[in-house]
Amino acid sequence: MTSYVFPPRPPVSVAIEGTSDRFPVHRIYCVGRNYADHVREMGGDPRREAPIFFSKPADAVVESGAPVPYPQRSKDFHHEIELVVALGRGGRDISADRALEHVFGYAAGNDLTRRDLQHAAKQRGEPWDVAKGFDRSAPVAAIRPVSHGHLTQGRIWLKVNGTLRQESDLEHMLWKVPQIIAELSALFELRPGDLIFTGTPAGVGLARKEFLKAGDVVKVWVEGVGTLVNPMA
Ligand code: MN
Repeated sequence: MTSYVFPPRPPVSVAIEGTSDRFPVHRIYCVGRNYADHVREMGGDPRREAPIFFSKPADAVVESGAPVPYPQRSKDFHHEIELVVALGRGGRDISADRALEHVFGYAAGNDLTRRDLQHAAKQRGEPWDVAKGFDRSAPVAAIRPVSHGHLTQGRIWLKVNGTLRQESDLEHMLWKVPQIIAELSALFELRPGDLIFTGTPAGVGLARKEFLKAGDVVKVWVEGVGTLVNPMA
Protein backbone atom coordinates (compact mmCIF):
# COMPACT_ATOMS: atom_id res chain seq x y z
CA MET A 1 0.00 0.00 0.00
CA THR A 2 1.29 3.44 -0.93
CA SER A 3 2.45 5.56 1.96
CA TYR A 4 2.24 9.37 1.61
CA VAL A 5 4.35 11.86 3.54
CA PHE A 6 1.17 13.81 4.33
CA PRO A 7 -2.48 12.90 3.74
CA PRO A 8 -3.54 13.55 0.10
CA ARG A 9 -6.56 15.81 -0.28
CA PRO A 10 -9.83 14.11 -1.22
CA PRO A 11 -10.96 14.81 -4.81
CA VAL A 12 -12.63 18.15 -5.50
CA SER A 13 -16.27 17.51 -6.41
CA VAL A 14 -19.48 19.32 -7.33
CA ALA A 15 -23.11 18.56 -6.42
CA ILE A 16 -25.43 17.03 -9.03
CA GLU A 17 -29.07 18.03 -9.16
CA GLY A 18 -31.48 15.30 -8.06
CA THR A 19 -28.95 12.93 -6.47
CA SER A 20 -26.57 12.75 -3.53
CA ASP A 21 -23.85 11.43 -5.89
CA ARG A 22 -21.01 13.88 -6.52
CA PHE A 23 -19.22 14.88 -9.75
CA PRO A 24 -15.44 14.47 -9.24
CA VAL A 25 -13.58 17.35 -10.90
CA HIS A 26 -10.52 16.57 -13.03
CA ARG A 27 -9.54 19.91 -14.66
CA ILE A 28 -11.13 23.32 -15.21
CA TYR A 29 -10.77 24.73 -18.73
CA CYS A 30 -12.09 28.18 -19.65
CA VAL A 31 -12.89 29.94 -22.93
CA GLY A 32 -12.00 33.61 -23.29
CA ARG A 33 -13.38 36.06 -25.88
CA ASN A 34 -16.47 33.95 -26.67
CA TYR A 35 -19.06 36.77 -26.81
CA ALA A 36 -18.49 39.65 -29.25
CA ASP A 37 -19.90 42.33 -26.92
CA HIS A 38 -17.46 41.35 -24.16
CA VAL A 39 -14.51 41.33 -26.60
CA ARG A 40 -15.47 44.89 -27.57
CA GLU A 41 -15.85 46.12 -23.96
CA MET A 42 -12.35 44.77 -23.28
CA GLY A 43 -11.02 46.88 -26.18
CA GLY A 44 -10.67 44.04 -28.69
CA ASP A 45 -12.06 43.27 -32.13
CA PRO A 46 -14.11 40.03 -32.35
CA ARG A 47 -13.53 39.91 -36.15
CA ARG A 48 -9.78 39.60 -35.63
CA GLU A 49 -9.45 37.78 -32.28
CA ALA A 50 -10.70 34.20 -32.04
CA PRO A 51 -11.72 32.67 -28.70
CA ILE A 52 -8.84 31.38 -26.56
CA PHE A 53 -8.39 28.82 -23.79
CA PHE A 54 -6.96 29.19 -20.31
CA SER A 55 -7.39 27.13 -17.15
CA LYS A 56 -7.93 27.23 -13.42
CA PRO A 57 -6.82 24.65 -10.83
CA ALA A 58 -9.50 22.10 -9.93
CA ASP A 59 -9.41 23.15 -6.28
CA ALA A 60 -10.54 26.68 -7.24
CA VAL A 61 -14.12 25.31 -7.22
CA VAL A 62 -16.58 26.99 -4.84
CA GLU A 63 -20.09 25.59 -4.48
CA SER A 64 -23.29 27.61 -4.44
CA GLY A 65 -23.92 29.20 -1.06
CA ALA A 66 -20.27 29.20 0.00
CA PRO A 67 -18.54 32.56 0.60
CA VAL A 68 -15.72 33.80 -1.62
CA PRO A 69 -13.05 35.76 0.27
CA TYR A 70 -11.84 38.95 -1.45
CA PRO A 71 -8.66 37.84 -3.28
CA GLN A 72 -5.21 39.07 -2.38
CA ARG A 73 -3.32 41.69 -4.42
CA SER A 74 -6.30 43.03 -6.40
CA LYS A 75 -8.27 46.27 -6.33
CA ASP A 76 -10.34 45.33 -9.38
CA PHE A 77 -12.26 42.11 -8.72
CA HIS A 78 -14.73 41.12 -11.48
CA HIS A 79 -17.58 38.63 -11.93
CA GLU A 80 -18.13 36.78 -15.24
CA ILE A 81 -21.34 34.81 -15.71
CA GLU A 82 -20.72 31.63 -17.70
CA LEU A 83 -22.39 28.40 -18.75
CA VAL A 84 -20.28 25.51 -17.46
CA VAL A 85 -20.11 22.21 -19.36
CA ALA A 86 -19.34 19.08 -17.29
CA LEU A 87 -17.80 16.17 -19.23
CA GLY A 88 -18.76 12.57 -18.46
CA ARG A 89 -16.54 11.07 -21.19
CA GLY A 90 -13.08 12.05 -22.35
CA GLY A 91 -11.17 11.79 -25.59
CA ARG A 92 -8.80 13.43 -28.09
CA ASP A 93 -9.67 14.96 -31.45
CA ILE A 94 -13.40 14.73 -30.78
CA SER A 95 -15.47 15.82 -33.79
CA ALA A 96 -18.01 18.60 -33.26
CA ASP A 97 -20.87 16.41 -34.44
CA ARG A 98 -20.08 13.78 -31.76
CA ALA A 99 -19.04 16.25 -29.05
CA LEU A 100 -22.34 16.41 -27.16
CA GLU A 101 -22.10 12.65 -26.47
CA HIS A 102 -19.27 13.56 -24.06
CA VAL A 103 -21.35 15.98 -21.97
CA PHE A 104 -22.54 14.82 -18.55
CA GLY A 105 -24.44 17.99 -17.73
CA TYR A 106 -24.46 21.77 -17.42
CA ALA A 107 -24.15 24.25 -14.56
CA ALA A 108 -24.20 27.98 -13.87
CA GLY A 109 -20.72 29.36 -13.15
CA ASN A 110 -18.81 32.54 -12.34
CA ASP A 111 -15.28 33.02 -13.76
CA LEU A 112 -13.97 35.35 -11.03
CA THR A 113 -11.15 37.56 -12.29
CA ARG A 114 -8.50 39.88 -10.82
CA ARG A 115 -8.94 42.30 -13.72
CA ASP A 116 -6.09 44.62 -12.74
CA LEU A 117 -3.67 41.70 -12.76
CA GLN A 118 -5.08 40.52 -16.10
CA HIS A 119 -4.52 43.96 -17.68
CA ALA A 120 -0.94 43.99 -16.36
CA ALA A 121 -0.31 40.48 -17.72
CA LYS A 122 -1.69 41.39 -21.14
CA GLN A 123 0.47 44.52 -21.35
CA ARG A 124 3.60 42.57 -20.47
CA GLY A 125 2.73 39.50 -22.55
CA GLU A 126 2.68 37.37 -19.39
CA PRO A 127 0.46 34.35 -18.54
CA TRP A 128 -2.99 34.86 -17.01
CA ASP A 129 -2.64 32.41 -14.11
CA VAL A 130 -2.51 35.00 -11.35
CA ALA A 131 -5.47 36.86 -12.88
CA LYS A 132 -7.69 33.84 -13.41
CA GLY A 133 -6.43 30.81 -11.48
CA PHE A 134 -6.37 32.13 -7.91
CA ASP A 135 -7.86 30.42 -4.86
CA ARG A 136 -11.67 30.08 -4.95
CA SER A 137 -11.91 31.68 -8.38
CA ALA A 138 -14.37 29.15 -9.84
CA PRO A 139 -17.84 29.22 -8.25
CA VAL A 140 -20.03 26.58 -9.89
CA ALA A 141 -23.59 25.51 -9.05
CA ALA A 142 -25.00 21.98 -8.90
CA ILE A 143 -24.72 20.22 -12.28
CA ARG A 144 -27.95 19.51 -14.14
CA PRO A 145 -27.57 16.20 -16.04
CA VAL A 146 -28.16 16.12 -19.82
CA SER A 147 -31.25 13.99 -19.33
CA HIS A 148 -32.90 17.42 -19.19
CA GLY A 149 -31.60 18.17 -22.71
CA HIS A 150 -28.80 20.08 -24.44
CA LEU A 151 -28.62 23.86 -24.80
CA THR A 152 -28.38 25.90 -27.98
CA GLN A 153 -30.07 28.96 -26.55
CA GLY A 154 -31.26 30.21 -23.20
CA ARG A 155 -31.19 33.44 -21.27
CA ILE A 156 -28.42 34.10 -18.76
CA TRP A 157 -28.08 36.90 -16.23
CA LEU A 158 -25.98 37.96 -13.27
CA LYS A 159 -27.07 40.24 -10.44
CA VAL A 160 -25.01 41.87 -7.70
CA ASN A 161 -27.07 42.69 -4.60
CA GLY A 162 -30.21 42.34 -6.74
CA THR A 163 -29.03 44.76 -9.47
CA LEU A 164 -28.72 43.36 -13.00
CA ARG A 165 -25.10 43.55 -14.25
CA GLN A 166 -24.86 41.02 -17.09
CA GLU A 167 -27.60 39.71 -19.38
CA SER A 168 -27.37 37.77 -22.65
CA ASP A 169 -28.39 34.57 -24.40
CA LEU A 170 -26.35 31.44 -25.01
CA GLU A 171 -27.10 31.80 -28.73
CA HIS A 172 -24.60 34.69 -28.80
CA MET A 173 -21.65 32.44 -27.97
CA LEU A 174 -19.12 32.66 -30.85
CA TRP A 175 -17.98 29.06 -30.36
CA LYS A 176 -20.94 26.86 -29.38
CA VAL A 177 -20.51 23.92 -27.00
CA PRO A 178 -19.74 21.28 -29.73
CA GLN A 179 -17.03 23.47 -31.28
CA ILE A 180 -15.52 24.27 -27.87
CA ILE A 181 -15.20 20.55 -27.06
CA ALA A 182 -13.77 19.80 -30.53
CA GLU A 183 -11.19 22.62 -30.37
CA LEU A 184 -10.18 21.81 -26.77
CA SER A 185 -9.80 18.09 -27.51
CA ALA A 186 -7.40 18.96 -30.34
CA LEU A 187 -5.11 20.56 -27.73
CA PHE A 188 -5.61 18.33 -24.66
CA GLU A 189 -6.79 14.81 -23.95
CA LEU A 190 -10.11 15.49 -22.23
CA ARG A 191 -11.14 13.35 -19.28
CA PRO A 192 -14.36 12.55 -17.44
CA GLY A 193 -14.63 15.17 -14.70
CA ASP A 194 -13.40 18.09 -16.79
CA LEU A 195 -15.36 21.33 -16.39
CA ILE A 196 -15.39 23.90 -19.20
CA PHE A 197 -16.32 27.54 -18.50
CA THR A 198 -17.64 28.76 -21.86
CA GLY A 199 -17.03 32.53 -21.74
CA THR A 200 -18.87 35.64 -20.59
CA PRO A 201 -20.97 38.35 -22.29
CA ALA A 202 -20.55 42.10 -21.70
CA GLY A 203 -21.24 43.84 -18.42
CA VAL A 204 -18.30 42.71 -16.30
CA GLY A 205 -18.09 46.17 -14.74
CA LEU A 206 -15.38 47.97 -16.68
CA ALA A 207 -17.52 50.84 -17.99
CA ARG A 208 -19.05 51.83 -14.65
CA LYS A 209 -16.08 50.75 -12.55
CA GLU A 210 -18.32 48.36 -10.64
CA PHE A 211 -15.83 46.17 -8.84
CA LEU A 212 -16.90 43.42 -6.48
CA LYS A 213 -16.39 44.16 -2.78
CA ALA A 214 -16.73 42.33 0.51
CA GLY A 215 -20.38 41.93 1.46
CA ASP A 216 -21.69 41.76 -2.13
CA VAL A 217 -24.00 38.87 -3.00
CA VAL A 218 -23.56 37.58 -6.57
CA LYS A 219 -26.42 35.63 -8.15
CA VAL A 220 -26.02 33.86 -11.50
CA TRP A 221 -28.90 32.32 -13.45
CA VAL A 222 -28.84 30.18 -16.60
CA GLU A 223 -32.22 29.34 -18.12
CA GLY A 224 -32.95 25.62 -17.93
CA VAL A 225 -29.79 24.95 -15.90
CA GLY A 226 -29.97 26.58 -12.48
CA THR A 227 -28.90 29.28 -10.08
CA LEU A 228 -25.59 30.01 -8.34
CA VAL A 229 -25.39 32.34 -5.33
CA ASN A 230 -22.18 33.35 -3.52
CA PRO A 231 -21.58 36.05 -0.93
CA MET A 232 -18.25 37.86 -1.25
CA ALA A 233 -16.70 37.72 2.19
MN1 MN B 1 -14.43 34.20 -18.51
